[in-house]
Amino acid sequence: MNDVAQYAVRDGIAVITMNNPPVNGLGNALRAGIMEHLKRAQADPAVKGAVIIGSAKAFSGGADIREFGKPREKPDLFEVNDQQDAMTKPLVAAIGGFALGGGLELALGCHYRIAAPRAQLGLPEVKLGILPGSGGTQRLPRVIPMAEAVQMMTSGSTIPAERAKDLGLVDEIVAGDLLEGAIRFLQAERPIRRVRDMPAKIDGDAEAFFAKVRDDVAKQSRGYPAPLEIVACAAAAATLPFDEGRKVERERFNRLVNTSESKALRHMFFAERQTTKIPGVPEDTPVRQIRKAAVVGAGTMGGGIAMCFANVGIPVTLIDTTQDALDRGLNKIRDNYAATVAKGRLAQSEMDKRMGLVHGSVNLGKAADADIVVEAVFERMDVKKEIFRKLDGIAQQGAILATNTSTLDVDEIAAATARPQDVVGTHFFSPANVMRLLEVVRGEKTAKDVLATTMKLGKTLKKVPVVSGVCDGFIGNRMLEKYGQQSLFLLDEGASPVQIDGALQRFGMAMGPFAMYDMAGNDIGWEIRKRRSKERPDMVYSKAADRICEKGWFGQKTGRGWYRYEKGNRKPIPDPEVDKLLSEYREEIGVKQRKIPDDEIVERCIYALVNEGARILEEGIALRASDIDMVYLTGYGFPPYRGGPMFYADQVGLDKVLASIEKWRAGYQGAQWQPAPLLARLAKEGKRFNP
Ligand code: NAD
Repeated sequence: MNDVAQYAVRDGIAVITMNNPPVNGLGNALRAGIMEHLKRAQADPAVKGAVIIGSAKAFSGGADIREFGKPREKPDLFEVNDQQDAMTKPLVAAIGGFALGGGLELALGCHYRIAAPRAQLGLPEVKLGILPGSGGTQRLPRVIPMAEAVQMMTSGSTIPAERAKDLGLVDEIVAGDLLEGAIRFLQAERPIRRVRDMPAKIDGDAEAFFAKVRDDVAKQSRGYPAPLEIVACAAAAATLPFDEGRKVERERFNRLVNTSESKALRHMFFAERQTTKIPGVPEDTPVRQIRKAAVVGAGTMGGGIAMCFANVGIPVTLIDTTQDALDRGLNKIRDNYAATVAKGRLAQSEMDKRMGLVHGSVNLGKAADADIVVEAVFERMDVKKEIFRKLDGIAQQGAILATNTSTLDVDEIAAATARPQDVVGTHFFSPANVMRLLEVVRGEKTAKDVLATTMKLGKTLKKVPVVSGVCDGFIGNRMLEKYGQQSLFLLDEGASPVQIDGALQRFGMAMGPFAMYDMAGNDIGWEIRKRRSKERPDMVYSKAADRICEKGWFGQKTGRGWYRYEKGNRKPIPDPEVDKLLSEYREEIGVKQRKIPDDEIVERCIYALVNEGARILEEGIALRASDIDMVYLTGYGFPPYRGGPMFYADQVGLDKVLASIEKWRAGYQGAQWQPAPLLARLAKEGKRFNP
């Protein structure tokens, strides 16, 4: 007997209780315990049926992620399933909360499933680039219609109990005490109903069905191998005997586990869970209560940030200097919500509720009762300092004073107050109500509880909060500068915006750099360059972008930038005049155009990210390589199947990355390629960024 699986007999029913908090992960000890208790129930003549139930809120969240990468002990879930199938007494799964992945596979190994109304069932393995590897692909389509099974497995989405009941995945919904319900359920005569003996639920022409599904899934899965492998397993469930199908599933599972896509997706899964772990700031650090917020500046960012609060039920006061600016901001929020309502993704009543939480004011004094004030005014140090100085006199004691600055020194802003310990950076990404990344900028004097509270708030706002130290551009934009620098040097040498964007998109970036500049507005970068070239006269950059701006080609908002845009359409159209401007510029700087291979484009841009990422890591600006990966995965459209720039570099091999950088040092603007000392050291030692 072990504690994680408990055994009791009630009214002739064996009760097997999973007790492995927090989610009853099916680790080594729990599987062994379930196995032992199943055998015991089978052998006990006083027992006429058995129930498997979870002690906590979950039935089971599936594999125990704490044991990932560690050796699996026997029995594996396969063997537990075999024991379930060998039972000659009815076996019911009582699902009180989540039954996910291996958890649902365990439930599918039972003869019956009953569930609490709030239960959620799903096979989310596809999200980690794998497939349900313990019979799930074979059992689910024997219990629910094939089309629904394929949909569930290829999307990885969960379904609520009610829907599961409609589909036949759940036999009964129990509103009251679930264990009582399970015992009652088994008191009735329940024939043994082994899922493995059932035929797959598919009507009509299976071949035609799978041909179409393969087509649809191939389109949706865009290069990820797991969804199509899932379809192949489902087809095996429809055409092969159960044990043969299980073999197909096993074989394909083993193949997927070793793909770079799955490794990257699993890295991302763990990386997301790491970001809130901060050395010296334990997870039980007492946090401040955030019941009310204020946002200063009702522009692009301020409006989106206010929506983030309202979306999770936190009342927020939006403050601007003029009624006009405030109204524009409030109207934008209303329009945003209304568009979501029109698409059917938000109920009108929910919109009304959220709008009811947003209050506008032109009086900064209204920030007095906020537990957090987020400043999102113009990116100018004098303006920000003035606001923080005023806020110091207005905000209640203990309130967090946050700035959304993208480039300015948070310590200098904090010094404008007499409470720098309460100041922190909250760098949201545009559109703030959509993008998941939140860089939490830790100032030199930021108090630990302020940091812990802001990280927790990030989670509450459904963001991925990542800690960054203070530096120009923080993690994301500081790296992006190097990426952008290379994209422009590549233009100088002969590539076109179309070629560069195409190469990086084929690598997997959501958008190429030039389409991105056009979207953000080329004038923004221009302003920053003007400021930086004063601050850092030694700064080297291609003037090609300045030439575009001098023409007033600011991007989408002016109808042309690196591309042309038709009215009301965001699709970039290649512009021969840009090509002409570029060839004139090359002549002016005396660079002879050469044909640049796509591989070089990708390597130079991505390794520029990696090299700067290494510096950021070495300087302690980022806490860990995986945090840098999360920044790029959630804020910059880096493809999840590549796991982020640092993980990607690890996969390529740091020695290879270093060799490329050394090579480019001899090339155009080679002085810009100084390998980061950390990269050089790790490469020499044969190590990786991510342990
Ligand atoms: P914006 O110009 O759209 O909005 C700024 C708003 O602040 C305006 O409505 C203006 O009236 C208001 N404002 C100016 N001075 C004020 C004052 N003293 N008191 C109250 N309101 C005042 O700018 P934005 O794009 O929303 O950027 C805001 C901040 O967010 C900047 O620091 C910017 O660097 C940062 N940021 C912007 C983005 C982006 O993509 N736009 C992304 C991340 C961070």
